[in-house]
Amino acid sequence: MTKMRAMIVPAAGAKLRLEEREVPQPGPHEVRIRVQACGVCHSDAATIEGQMPGLKYPRIPGHEVIGVLEAAGSGVEGWQSGARVGVGWFPGSCGYCSQCRHGNAFACENIQGATGVSRDGGYATHMLAHASALARVPAQLDAVESAPLLCAGITTFNALRHCGAGPGEVVAIHGVGGLGHLGIQFAARLGFRVVAVNRGRDKEPLARQLGAHEYIDSTAADPATALRALGGARAILATVTNAAAMQAIAGGLGANGTLMVIGAVGALTIDSLDLLRKRAAVKGWYSGVGTDSEDTLRFSQAHQVKSMNEVYPLEQAQAAYERMMSGQARFRVVLRVE
Ligand SMILES: [Zn+2]
Ligand SMILES: [Zn+2]
Repeated sequence: MTKMRAMIVPAAGAKLRLEEREVPQPGPHEVRIRVQACGVCHSDAATIEGQMPGLKYPRIPGHEVIGVLEAAGSGVEGWQSGARVGVGWFPGSCGYCSQCRHGNAFACENIQGATGVSRDGGYATHMLAHASALARVPAQLDAVESAPLLCAGITTFNALRHCGAGPGEVVAIHGVGGLGHLGIQFAARLGFRVVAVNRGRDKEPLARQLGAHEYIDSTAADPATALRALGGARAILATVTNAAAMQAIAGGLGANGTLMVIGAVGALTIDSLDLLRKRAAVKGWYSGVGTDSEDTLRFSQAHQVKSMNEVYPLEQAQAAYERMMSGQARFRVVLRVE
């Protein structure tokens, strides 16, 4: 048997460790992927720090995967060996439950959890995935450059295209980081009037270069007041990891505005009077399914949306993870696997 190399989490809170394993055989409806690159995402902390109930160890994290389909198990239709594929957070869907039949595959009743959390992910040379989780990846896309589009990209693109704003309307991207630097690019190319909001002025030149039309320093002035001065936001894409910061900007929504929450920050306190007076909403958004990833990749390719990455070899996944968690990376961290 051929061996694979994986960076495993031996137990909650333990450091990642290199392990050699037998290359796994795909079960029914599964495929095996030879991994080319895998992004390191803040959500990997769920697995590495043990932040989700019911986690089983050892576990291989990683849900921003690009690779090549190498083998298919029984019952897999429509996917051939050699196909370029990607896998994100979405772990697949059964196709026959009530949610799937209603077009809500993301909420499948039978396949739950997430890639790299409830099943092994892409911090490895090989991984298995449910065929229904796959996205087709254009041949010209570089794996290392594009891997973050499978989570940070799809999460921002898919939320923005469902945020209710039309061309020319004010859309604020709250947080210029791993998610935000992609959100600004997508929002500008979707035709919105893009307002980048971040602490301090350091990132203003970059935000403008990525496509922001306006910039608000949230430490210099109340960001909600500043947004209202621009007419109020039709949508705010909240990418920050801090509930207080999210609460502080919610008042910047305009009429029919929507706060799109894509950063997990626990409980939020929102002024209900402000919401009803503006007919405004607070909405969460699931990153998306395989076809959403495909749309993200194609849109990024057509409109030159690029993730800014720091690249590490697979074996340095622990250092890569620590770099990502430090908040200092510019902006995503990616493991080069082959
Ligand atoms: Zn992620
Ligand atoms: Zn289902």
